[in-house]
Amino acid sequence: MDNSKGGREAERKRLINHLISSGYLSKPEVIDSMMKVPRHRFVPESKQHSAYMDMPLSIGYGQTISAPHMVAMMTEYLDVKPHHKILEIGTGSGYQAAVLAEILNEGMLYTVERIPELAKKAEENLRGCGYSNVHVIIGEGTKGYNEESPYDRIIVTAGAPRAPKALLDQLNEKGKLLIPIGGRMLQELVLIEKYEEGFREKKLGGCVFVPLIGENGW
Ligand code: SAM
Repeated sequence: MDNSKGGREAERKRLINHLISSGYLSKPEVIDSMMKVPRHRFVPESKQHSAYMDMPLSIGYGQTISAPHMVAMMTEYLDVKPHHKILEIGTGSGYQAAVLAEILNEGMLYTVERIPELAKKAEENLRGCGYSNVHVIIGEGTKGYNEESPYDRIIVTAGAPRAPKALLDQLNEKGKLLIPIGGRMLQELVLIEKYEEGFREKKLGGCVFVPLIGENGW
C-alpha cells in the first residue's frame, strides 16, 4: 500500500529491533507492517516525543494506545492473511487497525469505537496515512458489526469479563477471535478458534487493558 508516512524511520527501526530481540516479533509480514506504520501520527502532539518508546500512551477520554509489544504480540497471534475480512473492537487511535491493514491486500478491516471523538480522530489518522481499506464505525462493539459478518479474524483491544456471544456468532468457521478476558484491572489474552464441532480456547498470558464497556462488557 502506498502511504504518505513521513519520518522518524530510525527511531522506528530501533523500536522494532528491540521487539525482535525481546521475542515479541518474528513474522516477516508483521515486522514489515510495524516498520511502515508511523506510530507518532496516531498519538496526540504532546505525546509524540514518546511515540517510539515501548509503552502505552494516553489518547484522551481516559483511553490509551496500546504498547508496541502488545500490538506486535496480538498481530502475530491473529495470523492475518492478505485476503482476510477483520473486525476490530476498540479503534482507539487507529494504530492497531493500521498495523493490521498494512498486511491486507484484497482484505478489509472494520473497526468499532464507542467514543465518537476518538472514532473521528482515528479516521483522520488513518486517512492521513493513506489507509483506504479500513472502515471506522461508531458503535457498541460488544454487539460486533453484523452488517459485514462473518469475519475471518476478530480482535478486541479492551478487557472483557467474557467473550461476547455476538462476536462468537459473527466469526467464520475456522476463524479466530483474540480477546483479553478477566477482571477490570488484569486480564488474560485468549485466542478462541471456531470449528464445526465447537470452540477451542488457548490462553496466552497476562495483559492489562482498559475495560470493554457495555452489554456483555463492564
Ligand atoms: N486499538 C487501539 C489503538 O490501537 O489505539 C487501542 C484501544 S484502547 C486500549 C480501547 C478502546 O476500546 C478505547 O478507545 C475504548 O473507548 C474502546 N471501547 C471500550 N468499550 C467499547 C465498546 N463496547 N465498543 C467499542 N469500543 C469500545
